[in-house]
Parts: sequence; structure tokens; C-alpha cells
Amino acid sequence: MKVGIIGTGYVGLPTGVGLAELGHNVICIDREQSKIDALKNGKITLYEDGLEELFHKNIKEGHIKFTTSMKEGIENADIVIIAVGTPPHPVTHEADMKYIHAAATELAEHLQGYTVIATKSTVPVGTGDDIENLIKKKNPKADFDVVSLPEFLREGFAVHDFFNPDRIVVGANTERACNVIKELYKSFENKTNMLFVKRRSSEVIKYASNSFLAIKIHYINEMANFCEKTGADIYEVAKGMGLDSRIGPKFLNPGPGYGGSCFPKDTMAMEYMARQNNVDMTLISAAINGNIKRKKEMADRILNSVKGIENVKIAVLGLAFKNGTDDCRESPAMDIVCELLKSGAKITAFDPKAMNTAKILLGDKINYADNMYEALKDANVLAILTEWEEFKNLDLNKVAKLMRNKNIIDCRNLIDIENASTNGFNYKGIGR
Ligand code: NAD
Repeated sequence: MKVGIIGTGYVGLPTGVGLAELGHNVICIDREQSKIDALKNGKITLYEDGLEELFHKNIKEGHIKFTTSMKEGIENADIVIIAVGTPPHPVTHEADMKYIHAAATELAEHLQGYTVIATKSTVPVGTGDDIENLIKKKNPKADFDVVSLPEFLREGFAVHDFFNPDRIVVGANTERACNVIKELYKSFENKTNMLFVKRRSSEVIKYASNSFLAIKIHYINEMANFCEKTGADIYEVAKGMGLDSRIGPKFLNPGPGYGGSCFPKDTMAMEYMARQNNVDMTLISAAINGNIKRKKEMADRILNSVKGIENVKIAVLGLAFKNGTDDCRESPAMDIVCELLKSGAKITAFDPKAMNTAKILLGDKINYADNMYEALKDANVLAILTEWEEFKNLDLNKVAKLMRNKNIIDCRNLIDIENASTNGFNYKGIGR
């Protein structure tokens, strides 16, 4: 099939490469000229495990192309996937629809023959109707259907999740559109759950899922606080809970709070939609407020460990919002760093993949190290903020010699407690 994808970011690019690998002919469209120039020149614009290899393979085989021209990407497409951003509105925190509305309006005039417009962006309930109306207004003769096709990939595992989806949810109001989506995902037939629902239900499924996961993370973080006060171990508690099949073992990992480009914005958007519809969603509000507080609590822990010390130097390991990605958007690590900066402390940070994206956001407010040991030199405290595997292998004997004071605040529980204690560290993890 011929597929046009509008938006070549963390969702659009892995989706485009994945669909090309399935044998479709994909054109990725983005309005950012520099992004398209880089991709055309064979330079990948974001980090995702396993993506670069597939990207080069499919360019070489001619299955994927890149353009800034809507006309080129849309006019022959059987299906157009919208994967543009839906960031939070700066004032109301509802999902900002300006990119969606622009994409729908821009694509309309180029539609030729029957085309399915599938929205992968996370959008408020009723957006499918809005897109339909915008297209009809701009191009009354267009023959098309609008489908909701929410994306559930986890950043850091985007390639894995593309080829091994838990489920594919399709919100379509016509059989004709359902058949096009079935054809698109033919390779997954009988391999994954494909759920066909009303378009509005599909739009809600995405927000309901993300809000539930955010609440689960917030819940285990509060339980971790309780374990710290009462001498229980959050991992033993989580294991005991997770063995109950009604609860399940996933998303019971305590940490510095949820982050990334989805959970914070999607919970706020869900809260806004609930308010608009006069529905109480107190659990979601509690998770949103608790998660903001959580990051401040983590910063306080770090600062408390160096209380009374002058000219404090903090070593930060990890800036990305989670491991496996270079994405720093709404990263708890970035929020904690900003909180620490208010104290006047000097910060030197290292992240295996996110140095460039972090530099764009933080500029020269902090120092950047070339490796994890360089960040630790003369530090009064080490704060571990992202769960990169390589931080687990820190040689604590070497670390002890590099640091000025032996303090570790481990917001990801990566360091072995006994090893820390043998090497004389004042160590604090989460929930144990
Ligand atoms: P992103 O910011 O990484 O990428 C969006 C891209 O769209 C940008 O490159 C931008 O230049 C481009 N764009 C915007 N308007 C355009 C237009 N009119 N024409 C062409 N290009 C345009 O965003 P993302 O993280 O890929 O997220 C996209 C959507 O997917 C959001 O709604 C998000 O909530 C949802 N989502 C994201 C994830 C994730 O893990 N990032 C997971 C599931 C769903």
C-alpha cells in the first residue's frame, strides 16, 4: 500500500520505518526542512534502539522516502497517517489541536481517490469529527474516511513495540475504512489483538490507558514512601502485589515520578476533558499533583544530603525521561535538575544518549561530562535520575576516590545497597 505519514517525530519515524519494513511504500512528510534534509541524507534524527539499521535498509530498498511537500506525500496515498504533536496548551493544559487542524487542512486539497486518514496522534474525543469537517470544508469532493488509530508504543522500545504490539485499536465508523486498516496490518493478522470500535471509543481508549498507567506509577511511588517510613521493602511489596493477576507485575517500579511527552500531557488533557463534561476524575487529579510534588521531593532529598556544605557540586547521571531514548521532554530528571539549580549548586551531568537533546533544553545552565566518571569528579553527591543499565556497573571503589563526599541519592534503585555500604557511601534509594 502507499502510505503518507504527516509528522516525522518519535511516533511518525518509527511507524514509517516499520511500515516500510512490512513492505509498504512510505513517504514521511514533515514541515521542518532541516529534519527532512537530514533524513534524506541518511542521517537519523532521533535515537530508538534498532531503528537506524532498519532506516538505512529501507532507504536502500526504496521503501521509504522523505519530503516537506504535502502534495508529494498525499496525492497517491491509500492511507494518510497523522502523527503530529498534540502538546499541552500553555494556559488550559488541554491538548493543543493547532498542528492537527493545520495538517488536516493542508492535506485536504491533495486527496485523490478513496483515502483513509488515520490519526495516530493522541487527540481529544471528537477530534475525528473535527478532522472530517475540516477536510470536507476544504475539499467537498474528496472521497475519504477518518479513522482513529491510537499509538501505544513505548519510547525506547518503539521498534520492538511496532513489530510486537499488545493490541491494535481501530476506531472506524465505516466497513470500507476497517478493510483498509486490515490490509495495512495484514502481517499482524492472527498474531495480535485487533480491536475495532467506534471512533470516539478509540479516542478515549488512548487517554484512559495512559491515565491509568500514570495513576499506577503514582500509586507505587506513594507506597514506596510508606515502605521507607515503616521498614518494608517496596520490591517485596510490588512482587507480592504483582502476582495477583488482577494487578499484574508491570508498572510497579518506584522512581522519581512519571515523565516523557505523553503521561504528563495526556493526564492533564484527560482532566480537562472530564471537567468540560462535568465528570469528576479525582484519581487523575491526585496523580497529576502528586507527580509534581514527587520531583520536588527528590530534589529535596538530594539537597538534604549536602546540607551545611558550601559551594555544592552535584553529579547527575541520567537526563532522558527513561532509558533507551534521547527524549528529555517532561523528563523528571530535567525537572529535578531545574529544582536543584535554584539552590545555587553546580551541576555536572552525563547521559549516554540524551546529551544533545538536554543541551537544547538546559544550555549552559549545567556542565556536561563526557562519561559517568568525569561527572563525579569532586562531587558532594551523586544523583541517579535515569535507569540506564550502564549506571548499574559503576565501580564504587573508583567513584569513592573521585567524589569529595560519599553521598548517593539513587532515584532509580540501580546501585547495590551492600556494595554502597562496603565502599563507605551514605546511600539512599527509593522505598527500601
Ligand atoms: P514529535 O514532536 O516528536 O513529532 C511531531 C512532528 O510533526 C514534528 O517533527 C513536527 O515538525 C511535525 N509536524 C507538525 N505539524 C506538521 C504539519 N502540519 N505538517 C508536517 N509535519 C508537521 O511528536 P511525537 O512524540 O512523535 O508525538 C506525536 C503524537 O503521537 C502526539 O499526539 C503524541 O501524544 C502521540 N504519541 C506519542 C508517543 C511517544 O512515545 N512519543 C506515544 C504514543 C502517542
